[in-house]
Amino acid sequence: MSEKIVCSVVVPLYNEEEVILETYKRLKNVMESLNEPYEIIFVNDGSKDRTGIIANEICNKDKTVKLVDFARNFGHQTAITAGMDYSEGEAIVVIDADLQDPPELIPKMIEKWREGYDVVYGKRKERKGETFFKKFTAKVFYRFLRRMTDVDIPVDTGDFRLIDRKVCEALKLVNERNRYIRGIISWLGFKQTGIEFVREKRFAGETKYPLKKMLKFAADAITSFSYKPLKLASYFGMLLSFCSFVYLLVVIWMKLFTDHVQQGWASTVAINLFFHGITLIILGIMGEYIGRIYDEAKGRPLYIVKQTRNFSEDKTDKIT
Ligand code: UDP
Ligand code: MG
Repeated sequence: MSEKIVCSVVVPLYNEEEVILETYKRLKNVMESLNEPYEIIFVNDGSKDRTGIIANEICNKDKTVKLVDFARNFGHQTAITAGMDYSEGEAIVVIDADLQDPPELIPKMIEKWREGYDVVYGKRKERKGETFFKKFTAKVFYRFLRRMTDVDIPVDTGDFRLIDRKVCEALKLVNERNRYIRGIISWLGFKQTGIEFVREKRFAGETKYPLKKMLKFAADAITSFSYKPLKLASYFGMLLSFCSFVYLLVVIWMKLFTDHVQQGWASTVAINLFFHGITLIILGIMGEYIGRIYDEAKGRPLYIVKQTRNFSEDKTDKIT
C-alpha cells in the first residue's frame, strides 16, 4: 500500500454526472496498463447534480480513486489547483472530465517525462464538435494573449498536461487568486515540450464554460500577465489630448483671424458623449485590475473543502 505513487491524475468535475463513469473506466484502463502505482484525484467543484454521489460510490469500491469535495463552485482553475495540492505522485497529469482530452495520451506524456521533460502539454491540432464561435474565439484569444504578454505561453494548449513534482511544488508558491494556470506554468520555466492531439468532442453533457465564464477567464489571463491594457489606455489618452489641443489652436486662430464663427450644438454633444464613453472604458480597465488587487488583499483561502475521501491521514490533516 505504501508504495510511492508515480503518477497522479487530477480530474476537475462540475456537473459531469453523464460522463464521470465513462471517464473513470477509460482512465482506469490506461493507468492499469502502466503497471505503476498511481492515484486518480477527482475534484468535485460544487456540482449541483449527482456527480458527487457517483464519485463517492467510485471511492467506496476503488481506493486508488480519491476525492476532494469543494463546499461550493470555485471554478475550473481552482479545482485543478486543489487537485495538485493534494497529489502525491512524482508526475501529475491534469485532464478534463469530458473525454475531450484522450486519456490514451497519458503514456506518451509519461514517456516524454522520462526523457527528461518537466512539463509535457497537449497541443490541440484540431477541435472536433465545437461551435464555430468557440473555435474562433479560442483561436483569436490565444494569439491576442501572446501579443499582450511577455511570457511565452504556447498557443492552442489547454490545461491537459503532465507536470513534474518539482513544477507542482513551484506552482504552490504562486498564490494568486484569479489564476491562469497554463500561463503560470509557462512563467515558471523548466524544460517544456508539447504533444499534438486531436481534441474530440465532448463525450456527453454540455460545456461548463458559458460566455460569461470565458470572458472572466480571458480577463484573468490578460490581467495576470500584462499591464499593457493600462499602458494602451494612457497612450490613447495622450493621443486624444494632443488632437484636441491642435483643434483648440485652430479654433482660436479662426476666431482671431477669420470671419468664420464656429457653430453647432449637436457636434458638441456628440463629442462629449464620445469622450465620456472613452473615459468609462478606461475606468473599467482600471477596475479590472483594482478588483484583482482587492481579491489579493483580502487574502482569503483559494478554496474550501467540504470532505475528502481515500487520502492518507497526513494529507487530510495538512490541508483541510
Ligand atoms: N469545470 C470545473 N468547474 C467549473 C467549470 C468547469 O471544474 O466551474 C471542469 C469541467 O467539469 C471539465 C473541465 O473543467 O472537466 C473543462 O470544462 P468544459 O469541458 O466544460 O470546458 P470546455 O472544454 O468546453 O472549454
Ligand atoms: Mg470540455
